Amino acid sequence: MFVSLVIVLLYGIGFIASDTLQSNNLSVPFYVAILAGVTAALSFVGRQWIAKEYIVPVAIAVYGLLATTTGLLVIDTGFTTSPFIALWMLIGLFAGLFGLYVLSIVAVVINGYLLADLVFLHTINNTEQFIIFLLAYELPLVASFFLWRKKNREESSEEKTYTALAQELSQVANKSEIVINAIDEGVIAVDGQGVIQLINPAAQGTIGWGKQDALKLDYRSVLKLKDKNGKSLEPSQDVVQKTLATNEPSASNDLTLETNSGKRLLVSVHVSPVGQIGSGCIIVFRDITEEKKEEREQAEFISTASHEMRTPIAAIEGYLGLALNPHTAVIDDKARGYIGKAQESVQHLGRLFQDLLDVSRLEDGRLTNHPKVIDVGAFAQDVTNGFMISAKDKNLALIYKPGISNGKEKQLAPVFYAEVDADHMREVLSNLIENAIKYTQEGSITVDLTGDNEHVKVSVKDSGIGIPPEDVSHLFQKFYRIDNSSTREIGGTGLGLYLCRRLVEVMGGRIWVESDYGKGSTFFVEIPRLDHQTAVDRIEREKEQGPQITTMHDTPPPTV
Ligand code: ADP
Repeated sequence: MFVSLVIVLLYGIGFIASDTLQSNNLSVPFYVAILAGVTAALSFVGRQWIAKEYIVPVAIAVYGLLATTTGLLVIDTGFTTSPFIALWMLIGLFAGLFGLYVLSIVAVVINGYLLADLVFLHTINNTEQFIIFLLAYELPLVASFFLWRKKNREESSEEKTYTALAQELSQVANKSEIVINAIDEGVIAVDGQGVIQLINPAAQGTIGWGKQDALKLDYRSVLKLKDKNGKSLEPSQDVVQKTLATNEPSASNDLTLETNSGKRLLVSVHVSPVGQIGSGCIIVFRDITEEKKEEREQAEFISTASHEMRTPIAAIEGYLGLALNPHTAVIDDKARGYIGKAQESVQHLGRLFQDLLDVSRLEDGRLTNHPKVIDVGAFAQDVTNGFMISAKDKNLALIYKPGISNGKEKQLAPVFYAEVDADHMREVLSNLIENAIKYTQEGSITVDLTGDNEHVKVSVKDSGIGIPPEDVSHLFQKFYRIDNSSTREIGGTGLGLYLCRRLVEVMGGRIWVESDYGKGSTFFVEIPRLDHQTAVDRIEREKEQGPQITTMHDTPPPTV
């Protein structure tokens, strides 16, 4: 652009100082000035507005125009005697910059002109002029060839690496697309603003949106997630927002999805963050309407069957009790032994049906939750006392630890309140103490209570068989039982700990176990604590309103 502007400028000066320029042969013809102007304009447009991918052809065009302008200028001002030779030499030096093709074209044009000159024009008519021609017109091209060759080579090897890399990337991208498209779960990728960047065919099929319609839209207008009753989601329920805001994975099996045709589906949604916070996330979802329906039907069947079977079992248990009672029946010792065993098995069967009933009630949503204020310490002690006889029958010491004297002085048991369903809490603690007795052959079981401002923690520690580390993570799953030589003889359903976990979750708490295999286990239940003053106020209020809330304390409790 600079060179062409200089030419235009020289043409302009020609008007003011035409004599001086003409005497130096520096005057620029009009058509050359026009060409130079076009060149300058094109190079300016190229710099400012042309897209990156067109920059090379435009640069070559600018160079071509500039070379033509300078060539014509040189020819017009005396060729081998032109004062613009230096300008041409400069332009010639850059021919190699655009590669061998452009350099060759320039060389062909120059040598073509030389030939034409030698045959027709005869401007070059002695050796001196021929040498000037070689030095001024051929030498810059040769120099240009060597000057840019190395650079072009480097660039072309860089280009090759770049092409190979681009090919590899595009192959990987193709493969990923094939994989994502083959997944039969809905996959949607959104950016940090929640705008859809990718939607796979399964997602399109489930939601009823086409790819082109869904891309670049906010995910909320395509993936219309609602709560299980079909109402709009609270911010805390929106798993996608949660992941976008925290960059943590989130999931829910409790949401419904409204499809494009207005149909409502039950869905399981998993959201995983991508990269840094604000980069976006991947939403994977699955229609679980059928699954849930089957589960509900299964739970209903189990519930009805268990309910119906409990009546005959209760009758069998009653009659076996009568048979064993010396006041109502006379049987010999052998028969007593058999009937005793039959009674144990029937009791086990009764417990199994009770567990099945509880689980099915939990799973089809029939489980009620009536939170009441309880003094957790007094409550746990009460539940523990209920197991004293069965512990004694196995020669085990069952200890309720809080408040036990440490030898010198009597310690005060801490008082922690919680607002939970007392039936749920009783079932959880009973299950844990029952298991502790069941899986301990000798030693002791200790129930303890601790807490902080936020939580109350009850622990049940035993000196029993312990739990192998590989089983710990599966322990709270439905029907999971550890199958090894120490457990095989002990009957059970594998439902107790699953029920405990679900009930503790309903109470807003958590349950876990720490165990030393072969030495014993400690189960922990942690629930939210109700602060002392609120607990006292609620107890007082309930007293005034009537007996809806039952507590373990009738008198206002002491401060912790
Ligand atoms: P089960 O009816 O079989 O006792 P649970 O769900 O209560 O079912 O317990 C699941 C499994 O966990 C049991 O089969 C047992 O192997 C193991 N387990 C539970 N409590 C204890 C414990 N205190 N000590 C050792 N193992 C235990």
